[in-house]
Amino acid sequence: MSATPDFLPFSRPSIDEATIAAVGDVLRSGWLTTGPKVAAFEASLSEFFGRRTLCFANGTCTMEVALRLAGIGPGDEVLTTPITWVATANVVLAVGATPRFVDIDPVTRNIDLAKLEAAIGPRTRALLPVYLSGLPVNMDRLYAIAARHGLRVIEDAAQAQGSRWKGRRVGSFGDFASFSFQANKNLTTGEGGCLVLPEQADRDLAERLRLQGVKRSGLDAMDVETPGGKFNLNDIAAQIGLCQLAQLEAIQGQRRSLAQAYFERLKPLVRARGWDDCALPVLPPDTLAHADIETNWHMFQLVLPLERLAGKGIDSRASFMAAMKARGIGIGVHYPPVHLFTLYRNLGWKPGDLPVAEQVGRSIVSLPLFRAMSTADVDRVVTALEEVL
Ligand SMILES: *Cc1c(COP(=O)(O)O)cnc(C)c1O
Repeated sequence: MSATPDFLPFSRPSIDEATIAAVGDVLRSGWLTTGPKVAAFEASLSEFFGRRTLCFANGTCTMEVALRLAGIGPGDEVLTTPITWVATANVVLAVGATPRFVDIDPVTRNIDLAKLEAAIGPRTRALLPVYLSGLPVNMDRLYAIAARHGLRVIEDAAQAQGSRWKGRRVGSFGDFASFSFQANKNLTTGEGGCLVLPEQADRDLAERLRLQGVKRSGLDAMDVETPGGKFNLNDIAAQIGLCQLAQLEAIQGQRRSLAQAYFERLKPLVRARGWDDCALPVLPPDTLAHADIETNWHMFQLVLPLERLAGKGIDSRASFMAAMKARGIGIGVHYPPVHLFTLYRNLGWKPGDLPVAEQVGRSIVSLPLFRAMSTADVDRVVTALEEVL
């Protein structure tokens, strides 16, 4: 992907030598699949969230298992956001249910909770919110809506490891919370995920759905009642996760200071050009430690005012990305609106259905933000932005 030798990607995992050595020990141990390291990682995660947590092969199958544990299936409707990784909607189809997309809030870029409540219909069984870039929704309001209408909640918290709402960690309250440890996430195991279970969840069923539905008893007995997936995490990945979890506070601190640096440099630029406030992420630097919301800065995203830029040689997000790439800067796109993919258009969705999501989905860009970056790299990105815009 490198266009120049010192190309700055939008994301890059940081794996230290201690982690590499610990993984070497697992490789030499004679046990590679789910074993003692997964058990240790699950114990650490359960302590971190204050709730029983199970590991999975990725953040997609965690959501699929959560939907099955919640009893969601054919005939049921699940409300979700179109500004997400397509996995969020695909898992709803995977269990035979129907995703119904709700427009987003232009400030938070997360699902609009007022529109969410208005969209609840007779077949609605679950809410599937996404915490884009690690920013949680208003949890009090989300769970009040779920309680009022008797709905299950599956939180797609794939990007929100370590984020907090009113001081409590995302995943530590409410119904199901699903996390991803994919390579670009703040805490990675290469590929992996975990599901934080509500108190009343059937943990045995969760473990069976994770591995072919197999139920063991005694030394040699085995039975299968329900088909399960091949969704188990392996010990190599779990060891990476154990090392990463121990560093999570440091990782978040580094990301927070890089986000702060972006704000300090971008706020004057945005003001001088007369862009509206929605161009920047929701929390200005003076409220980074906002009382209710603490994001983990999984991404730092701008919404480009493409209409204003049209006369200045930037006629699309792609031309902006090309100009940044020519300056050695990688830009990510998270995400095009899911409801306009062919699969979902074939289910009846069309342009104009969700105008805010469509506008944001056309114009949103993710700037480089990863642990090994320095504030000099932030300066380099902002200088390139000034030139290009
Ligand atoms: C990463 C991600 C997923 C999927 O996680 P995988 O581990 O890649 O399966 C789902 N939803 C969102 C919002 C994500 O960012």
